[in-house]
Amino acid sequence: MSNKKQRVAVIRGDGIGVDVTDAALAVVDAALVRIGGDRLDYDYLETGAGYYRDHGVDVAPGAEAAMDDADAIFLGAIGLPGVRYPDGTEISPHLRIRNRLGLYAGVRPVKAYPNSPRRLADPRAADIDMIILRESTEGLFYSASVLEQRDICTDDEVRDVLRITRPTTEKLHDFAFNLARRRKQRGGRGHVTCVDKANVFRSMAFFRKIFDERAVAFGDIERGYNYVDAQALDMVRRPWEFDVLVMENMFGDILSDLAGGLVGGMGMAACAEIGDHHGLFQPAHGSAPDIAGEDRANPLAAILSGVLMLDYLAERSGEAVFADAAKLIDSSVNAGFSAGRLRPIEFGGDQGTRTLTRELVDIVQSK
Ligand code: ATP
Repeated sequence: MSNKKQRVAVIRGDGIGVDVTDAALAVVDAALVRIGGDRLDYDYLETGAGYYRDHGVDVAPGAEAAMDDADAIFLGAIGLPGVRYPDGTEISPHLRIRNRLGLYAGVRPVKAYPNSPRRLADPRAADIDMIILRESTEGLFYSASVLEQRDICTDDEVRDVLRITRPTTEKLHDFAFNLARRRKQRGGRGHVTCVDKANVFRSMAFFRKIFDERAVAFGDIERGYNYVDAQALDMVRRPWEFDVLVMENMFGDILSDLAGGLVGGMGMAACAEIGDHHGLFQPAHGSAPDIAGEDRANPLAAILSGVLMLDYLAERSGEAVFADAAKLIDSSVNAGFSAGRLRPIEFGGDQGTRTLTRELVDIVQSK
């Protein structure tokens, strides 16, 4: 096993993206140093709405090639009010990058940390710990990314296509079962729920059929099914019972925000987008122009995205140091909330981005 450094392409982006990226990498570095070494090389890339405003392109020359070559990509957030492409749409190089790199598996962990906001009065809400796995390259967003699919678009009728393909869906379900297996090794339930609308749509019946086919290879993992409307209800009624939930792109878009709201909102919403050869890690929130430059952003979503990146690098490199650093950060966040040492302004606390980050680094260093 080598001690080769892993290369991380870093796009800080716009607004609070810059602050939360710096926070996340400071915590990641502190954890790696604590575990045994400085194991990451960062390649900072200029990309985003600010760059587009100043240079007329949304990605600096060479940056896309650098992402292709990196072991992981970390992204803060992209977007500035009033900066748009000529067709009026938002600056979104990351959507193009997601499609180009085939990042089909959108991973959104939803976990209740002690003393962080809970929207449900039921005490079992403290046990919420699930992953929403959202297919991210096709489904109902296929039409939005592939212009030729908008073949019927007149002033009398518009159609969007929901596309489910066998190759992507097989990989997605395998990803879900493997994730449940890894979580089971760490004490998880070992359960995957297929969320669909198989009673109405052929595309969804196909999605479920492939789920059942792939499940055969994962006899140690339990499986369940839920229609998406019933899942929305259960997300409020009994979210603590779910482990990994796998679903089509649009369903995942909606349910991941709903689930995120149960445990504190955008400032805690971490995200990984993973393909066969690349992984991109970013907080699920945007650049929050309303609080940019005020040192008020909650960096925890970015920090928890850093945890997902470390887990990915552990898997990719086969080196335990990354998995140990991920565990250290996660347990430090838990301990920090339990002891009342983490108090983000977003949750009514008194710690801005930098103060909270320093406190968490301190916890990591002393654990
Ligand atoms: P996008 O479309 O890029 O997701 P948006 O404008 O819909 O962007 P955000 O930029 O995520 O959404 O901001 C939504 C609201 O949440 C804003 O009021 C913002 O201040 C708040 N917010 C987002 N992220 C954070 C954070 N990390 N800490 C504190 N508040 C945040």
